[in-house]
Amino acid sequence: MPYNTPAPSPIPPVATGSGRSVTPPPQTLAVLLPSRCVACSAVGPSPCPRCLASMSSCPNTPVPDGLDDCKALLRYEGATREIVTRLKYRNQRSSLRWLGSALADLVDAEAVDVVTWAPTTGSRVRERGFDHAELIARRVAGRTGVPVRSLLDRGPGPAQTGRSEVERHSGPSFLPRRSLCGSSVLLIDDVMTTGSTLSAAARALRTAGASRVRGLVVAHRPWSGRRHQEPEPNRLRAV
Ligand SMILES: [Zn+2]
Repeated sequence: MPYNTPAPSPIPPVATGSGRSVTPPPQTLAVLLPSRCVACSAVGPSPCPRCLASMSSCPNTPVPDGLDDCKALLRYEGATREIVTRLKYRNQRSSLRWLGSALADLVDAEAVDVVTWAPTTGSRVRERGFDHAELIARRVAGRTGVPVRSLLDRGPGPAQTGRSEVERHSGPSFLPRRSLCGSSVLLIDDVMTTGSTLSAAARALRTAGASRVRGLVVAHRPWSGRRHQEPEPNRLRAV
């Protein structure tokens, strides 16, 4: 079944009175506008307590081929989906601090030498001006005290978003940027569906010498061909 993540519309431009319109930079908006929940727009922290209470943790995450371990913070639904897509497509970062802290709580920092991320396509980064997976990885690294490094280049090919699940199984291609000499790597991504992106990234890290590769993603979106038991959801605590 095709999987398409809807891209929210861009931030509307502001009329200047001179006949031109400009789009305020995010920093300006942050100063002018009160903090709001990214998922429901309630004034206050993001996510707000109500959305936080609605988000379900994801304790039984399947481990993709090539990884030693994999954890997902949340199930990809409701407020979680809203937070991820708004970070990814609208550069709305007000949930990043919470995400970084909540993800860091899942990390055994003593068992990890370096944090990295599965880079998105170069065209997407040029179009958006940032790599959302890198933003998340840097937050997790900051909270855990583990160094963060750009260890992978993305090879040519389309992004996974919008591809069918069959197409997704082929996965993107990654190339290692440096030798890893037996390092234990924590690999960050936003959403895991089939796991093919994490598997491809892990293969590249191992060819560079990584001894262990652990995956950590914001959310898991189960796909129809791979069923697994999901226990009663736990509610997340505020960070
Ligand atoms: Zn909310």
